[in-house]
Amino acid sequence: MEKIYDVIILGGGPAGYTAALYTARAGLSTLVVEKMSVGGQMTLTGDIDNYPGFPQGVDGFTLGSYMQSGAERFGAETQYDEVLSVELTEEIKKITTFGGDLYSKTVIIATGANPRELGIEKETELTGQGVHYCAHCDGRFYKDKIVAVVGGGNSAASDALYLSRLCKKVYIIHRRDTLRATKIYHEPLMKTENIEFLWDSKVEEFVTDGKLTGVKIANVKTNETKEIALDGVFISIGRKPATEFLKDIDLDQNGYIISDENCKTNIDGVFVAGDVRTKTLRQVVTAVSDGAVAADEIEKYLQK
Ligand SMILES: Cc1cc2nc3c(=O)[nH]c(=O)nc-3n(C[C@H](O)[C@H](O)[C@H](O)COP(=O)(O)OP(=O)(O)OC[C@H]3O[C@@H](n4cnc5c(N)ncnc54)[C@H](O)[C@@H]3O)c2cc1C
Repeated sequence: MEKIYDVIILGGGPAGYTAALYTARAGLSTLVVEKMSVGGQMTLTGDIDNYPGFPQGVDGFTLGSYMQSGAERFGAETQYDEVLSVELTEEIKKITTFGGDLYSKTVIIATGANPRELGIEKETELTGQGVHYCAHCDGRFYKDKIVAVVGGGNSAASDALYLSRLCKKVYIIHRRDTLRATKIYHEPLMKTENIEFLWDSKVEEFVTDGKLTGVKIANVKTNETKEIALDGVFISIGRKPATEFLKDIDLDQNGYIISDENCKTNIDGVFVAGDVRTKTLRQVVTAVSDGAVAADEIEKYLQK
């Protein structure tokens, strides 16, 4: 007879391990399934300065492993494996991984979201070395330097304004001749002296001499190309939630899992926490908060 867990948590980032801490501490049998490395997106950055309790900041690996140890102290288990598909609508949920099938009474989906990439050469090797996806996280490395933001939506606009307060100069590289961002951003962007727009432009190439020194951009209307010297570039062209293996779950138009503020989904016994759900601020502090809320809801659900 296969083991039936009280809860299986998909994803070992901050949301997943906070949920695991709460459910394991409440005496529920808890398994976290993580496909890559504990800590999730936190492991992609250097120091995290805006998670409370660490006055000197903390690196993502350390924080991730603290979160895992905290949950394991109360008996949470980790399986390093990828979730391939799920059957969630029955009372007992089935999770299929490379290693085989797993069963549980409840599930928390905490698989996070990843920034969309430009998909051009050298992008992966330069990530964290001149190429970034989170201005609020990594902008401080570029104080008084020259950077570019790629994108024209709300997050690109907000990133550019944020960086303009730190950096000497901020280019906005956008494929169209108008912003997609809501009107509220337009005037502040236009009025900020150290922001310059490069309209109708796309990044063709990262220029490097070992580290990033600039980008080559092409005008999408004239095909004219030019090189701009930069210290860093922030890609802000949206995010992709990790929901491709799911079915029967309601998603919004951008692929995020729809939930109420108690992290419930449309399926009984299935909850969602962290970046993968509909929300406005995707940060460690909001991910851990979701994890705690989802775990609390699971306790109530299992008591029924
Ligand atoms: C470069 C960068 C820097 C950042 N810096 C900061 C910062 O300074 N401060 C801050 O507050 N926030 C920062 N963030 C944002 C923060 O890391 C996220 O908001 C937070 O990690 C979200 O946590 P999560 O648990 O919801 O998801 P994630 O951290 O994305 O974790 C999800 C986990 O699920 C796993 N997973 C996905 N699919 C599967 C599957 N099919 N099977 C098994 N496992 C799966 C993934 O491998 C991952 O480990 C940064 C993000 C990035 C990318």
